[in-house]
Amino acid sequence: MSEQNKTKSEAKILEEKLLIDHKHAGVSLEDKEIQDADQFCDAYKSFLDIAKTEREAVDTAIERAKAKGFVEFDYRKKYAAGDKVFYNNRGKAVILAILGTESIENGVKIAAAHIDSPRLDLKPRPLYEDSGMALFKTHYYGGIKKYQWTAMPLSLHGVIIKQDGTKITVCIGEDDNDPVFCVTDLLPHLATDQMKQTLADAIKGENLNILIGSRPFKDDEKSCKVKLNIIHILNQKYGIIEKDLLCAELEAVPAYKAKDVGFDRSMVGAYGHDDRVCAYTALEAILDCEAPRSTVVTILADKEETGSDGNTGLKCSYLKYFIADLAKPFGVEGRTVLSKSQCLSADVNAAFDPTYPEVSEKMNTAFLNYGVTVTKYTGSRGKAGTSDASAEFVANVCGILDKNKVIWQTGELGKVDQGGGGTVASYIANLNVDVVDVGVPVLSMHSPFELVSKIDVYMAYRAFLEFFKA
Ligand code: MN
Ligand code: MN
Repeated sequence: MSEQNKTKSEAKILEEKLLIDHKHAGVSLEDKEIQDADQFCDAYKSFLDIAKTEREAVDTAIERAKAKGFVEFDYRKKYAAGDKVFYNNRGKAVILAILGTESIENGVKIAAAHIDSPRLDLKPRPLYEDSGMALFKTHYYGGIKKYQWTAMPLSLHGVIIKQDGTKITVCIGEDDNDPVFCVTDLLPHLATDQMKQTLADAIKGENLNILIGSRPFKDDEKSCKVKLNIIHILNQKYGIIEKDLLCAELEAVPAYKAKDVGFDRSMVGAYGHDDRVCAYTALEAILDCEAPRSTVVTILADKEETGSDGNTGLKCSYLKYFIADLAKPFGVEGRTVLSKSQCLSADVNAAFDPTYPEVSEKMNTAFLNYGVTVTKYTGSRGKAGTSDASAEFVANVCGILDKNKVIWQTGELGKVDQGGGGTVASYIANLNVDVVDVGVPVLSMHSPFELVSKIDVYMAYRAFLEFFKA
């Protein structure tokens, strides 16, 4: 061996010993584990297709939980180790818990994800007719780039509550035989003025009107006959009148199903990965967690995309009250439990996009296929609005991941001062809980067709499960 090669070899040894080993998971994983990831994502795609809204996600989660022995939580009961309970908050958020063998006094382990995604909500009075067409007025929900929501098929999901309390569940546009709806856009031929506007201005919020029909009711006495025909169809289908729409929550979302993306099928493209990708993985983790040492909790929350306000969002006290109710029969205060609790705020992060490298700082951004992302802090403008996890807790979590060969990476949401964002981490940390963000990197986040890597999804599931079991 020449002197030069010997030096290189020593450098190599030192490199391996001292430097971060940042490898594509497709290289470091065994074939078997990649197959497991693919298989896991087949089930995830089914979940994406049947749970496009917070209400549908709650229904699906509860159905799956019941099949695994979870029962509805009763605050008057004292639960024993191994007992599985769920708390349904208004059909729009749900908490699942398994009592640990250890005393609840030692704290609980929480995985918190959200099940609401950006979309177009119908206004309370949505239906109108213009120029022989019937349309719905919308008010968009969450952070969207409005131009992305035009000229694509939309389905309609939600509930209409009649005056007598009857709940009508709506889901149109998902079945292959269903009609779909859409927001129209201007043809390029006549878009000279529109094209000069900025992306932010070209499509106005008030222009996100959904086309829902164009044939009139055959009667000459009424002026708005297309509108009348639509409400007539709705009346025949659901027994509703126009006024009933005032007491409804109807959400328009992309009508297509989740699909494999890429010749290698390595990714999943779908509406609403943010944050059903972490909701599904956190749900599966608790469903697969048998007899944990600590009490474990998965919470699937609503309203994250609009700031977590309201009684189904995580600024509300229902998580705090649930823990207190769980602990009370043991003579333990809720605050004592919370102060010793740990939480993975299970939410997505931005994946590096080679087409838009300028917004990311490559050393501290997440990459597709490099595993689940651990985000110490989110926020913007000098870490405003973040809980910023303690180094001690980050070390604790990353230790669990390393020990169990869960592939993980670090990620920051874009360059400093490029923008930013937040998660539910700070609201849970404000309850005196140790919290760090752990989730899946996403491309085209908040668009109608978001992308994730199957390996990263599987690593998120494994991360939540190993955290629960540790
Ligand atoms: Mn999110
Ligand atoms: Mn989001």
